[in-house]
Amino acid sequence: MKTYDVIVIGAGVVGSSVAYQLARLGAKNVLVLDRGTIGAGTTSQSSGILRTHYSVKENVELARKSWNVFNNFSAYLEDEEASCGLVKSGYMICAPEGDKLEPLRASLAQQKAQGIPLEFLDAKQASELLPIAQFADAALIGYEPEAGFADAYLVATSFARAARKGGVTIRENAQVNKLIIENGKIAGVSTSIGDFFTSTVVSTQNIWTPELAGWTGHSLPVMPERHAVLALECEAAKYTFSMPVFKDLASPGMLYCRSYGGNQMLVSEGIAGEKLNAAEVEQGDIPMDYIIEVGGQVAERFPEYETAGIASSWTGVYDVTPDWNPVLGKLPGIEGLVVGYGFSGHGFKLSPTVGRVLAQEALGLPTDVSLRPYSIERFSTGELLVGKYGSGAVS
Ligand SMILES: Cc1cc2nc3c(=O)[nH]c(=O)nc-3n(C[C@H](O)[C@H](O)[C@H](O)COP(=O)(O)OP(=O)(O)OC[C@H]3O[C@@H](n4cnc5c(N)ncnc54)[C@H](O)[C@@H]3O)c2cc1C
Repeated sequence: MKTYDVIVIGAGVVGSSVAYQLARLGAKNVLVLDRGTIGAGTTSQSSGILRTHYSVKENVELARKSWNVFNNFSAYLEDEEASCGLVKSGYMICAPEGDKLEPLRASLAQQKAQGIPLEFLDAKQASELLPIAQFADAALIGYEPEAGFADAYLVATSFARAARKGGVTIRENAQVNKLIIENGKIAGVSTSIGDFFTSTVVSTQNIWTPELAGWTGHSLPVMPERHAVLALECEAAKYTFSMPVFKDLASPGMLYCRSYGGNQMLVSEGIAGEKLNAAEVEQGDIPMDYIIEVGGQVAERFPEYETAGIASSWTGVYDVTPDWNPVLGKLPGIEGLVVGYGFSGHGFKLSPTVGRVLAQEALGLPTDVSLRPYSIERFSTGELLVGKYGSGAVS
């Protein structure tokens, strides 16, 4: 039975990032276990959008630091062949008069104060960047040039490859069945391929975090929520790679859209999805009524999409916490246990920095940003990280 310095449970984009950062920080003896394959959990279902726009300032900082990694990916990984599939299209966000206007104004002002490159556009300038949309109702339009989208699966597998090069062992098809805890301290993990000893475990189990709650007896609030993603095709109004990601605060679904494949539109809602009773990532039904409803919202902003067809679609599951923000850091009461879960539909863009701070926390090093705001204790103290837009993945 082997002993490791650190064991990571889960090889999604977050666990793979932790593994890479552990190696980068000099950890020599690291094991990652995933019951499936690298990136095949919720990571493979991601829309991949990268922005620093958040109303929670701590998230802006995590996203900004992470953008620097995505924007410089192969050099950061010291691997010429590494790619995150970045399309640097920029990010536009628009609110009409109404309840979203002040939250947007305040969030943009806060981002500016944090030094994020930002522009305020009028309708004409917005149309130049996104000519397939109309902006007649726009009261405020923000534009972030340093933003876009990338491929979450590619990022997970690239982090994993770089971690392996750094000496990390990654075992796929290996299920963790429980933690071995002795006198309130982590002593190892019991798995489908045997027991392994360690004094430090990092759990990045996403929607499967309730398993960890069961092993530890701690309350780790999280709810699996299914969301639908549609790819629409419209001959008359192609959504090209040069057009920005667009967030429509005017739409009832707080839609986000981006180019898909260089001519289609990927679109999804930024509000609560279908609550599931169990953690499962199998594909769910997308009823025709739902497609018509979302299609109608798209056509309000993109008139030519009135006649668009649906090219493809899929569903994906968010790990939603009570305030739609992640839990990062040590779990009190169990020495040697670090958790990173609850990304609530916006964890990909944070994954490089989250991986780094969780690795630092696991190794007992100072963290690049304070993890206090993200602590599990906030659910009992009431210091929630609720965003200015209310519940939802804008956060
Ligand atoms: C539809 C959709 C759209 C999204 N769009 C965006 C977006 O545009 N931008 C953005 O920033 N984020 C987005 N996200 C969120 C982002 O993709 C996720 O936050 C991120 O991929 C989560 O990574 P993870 O590593 O936490 O989870 P996962 O990829 O789910 O990895 C968890 C892993 O843990 C493993 N595991 C769990 N329990 C065990 C166990 N007991 N033993 C062994 N292995 C175990 C699982 O097999 C799994 O591989 C989206 C998510 C979805 C679903």
